[in-house]
Formats: sequence, structure tokens, C-alpha cells
Amino acid sequence: MQNRTLAESRHNGVEIHLFEVFVPRQYTYIGLVELAGEPYQERQPDVDGKPRKVWVFPLRLVDSAAPVAIPEEIIKKRQEYKERQAKQLDEHELQKRIQFSHPEAASRKVTTTTYERNPYVAEYARRRAKGRCQLCHQPAPFLNPDGEPFLEVHHIVWLSRGGEDTINNTVALCPNCHRRMHVLDLAADRERLRREIKG
Ligand SMILES: [Zn+2]
Ligand SMILES: [Zn+2]
Repeated sequence: MQNRTLAESRHNGVEIHLFEVFVPRQYTYIGLVELAGEPYQERQPDVDGKPRKVWVFPLRLVDSAAPVAIPEEIIKKRQEYKERQAKQLDEHELQKRIQFSHPEAASRKVTTTTYERNPYVAEYARRRAKGRCQLCHQPAPFLNPDGEPFLEVHHIVWLSRGGEDTINNTVALCPNCHRRMHVLDLAADRERLRREIKG
């Protein structure tokens, strides 16, 4: 019934408003859409991974000049959620999902919040590290194109959490340790870094 309403939406005067679910139970309004082509049937796995035929309705935004930008955090959360779900699948299920996947990577507009970092603070932090990561104390893993040790500047208390862009909150890390700080987010590591820059 709803499929029919959707299929006839070019003539029946029904407006279609698209919502997407990026994280469970949270609906994000995308905008007013219209049918962009003939509906067609396709085989897709259901929640149990069993192939079933579904109707696909190609849609496009009515006001395509204003695509909705989704906060990057929400997109990342969805990606993480999907990757956690993928972990639950056995080899066979995984193969099946791959088989029913579209080869083109989906892309979309996102909004991001970036913080302007003080270049003097960053330069000071790099010099203070003297070419070594301030967490693992190993030499930088490679030199940048200017022949300088490659280290990344990191804020012990992240700027997104209200951390200050000062030399007392800034360290230089190898890419591995930088990832570690963001993925594991351990208080013990933060403490080590604080001690490190106090000397
Ligand atoms: Zn390191
Ligand atoms: Zn960082």
C-alpha cells in the first residue's frame, strides 16, 4: 500500500519527506524528495542476511542545490555501529553481504567542527620533543618532505573537550601513539604525558 503511494507520488499529490536513521532510533530529517526514476526490484539481504526481493525507489532531493549536511560525528557513529554489527557475522554471512553490496562507495556532505590551532604552540611542542615521540620515546617513524622528523601535535585534554591550546596541554606524538590516545583514551597515558612535559 505504501509502496503504491510512493510509486504514484508524481501524480497523487503526496509529498515525500525523507528521514534517515544513522544511529538506532534517531531520525534525521533530510528534506523533501521526489521519485528520480522508475521503482525496481532488487535482491538484498534481510536482517538475518537471507536474500529477499525489495522494491527500490530512486529518490532525489527536490531542492538539490541544498543537500543536507550531516554532522561528521553522526556519520562516524553509524560507521562504527555497522562495523560492530559486521563483527558478529560468520565468514559465510560476511561473504553474502559483500556479494549484495554496491561497488561504489557512498559519499555525502558532512559538517565538521575544526579548531584553529596556534602555530607557535605547535612549533614549540615539536621542537621540545626533539624528534622523539613523547609517549613511546621512539624516534619519529619517518622524515617529512622537508627532512624533519614527522610527529603529530596532540592536546592532552582534547580541544573538543574544552582543552586549552597552550604548551602545557600540547605534546608531539608518533602517529601510532596519537591514534592510541584517541582510540583508547586512557587516563594513565594522559598522566604520563603531563609528567613528560613538566620534565
Ligand atoms: Zn609513540
Ligand atoms: Zn590528537
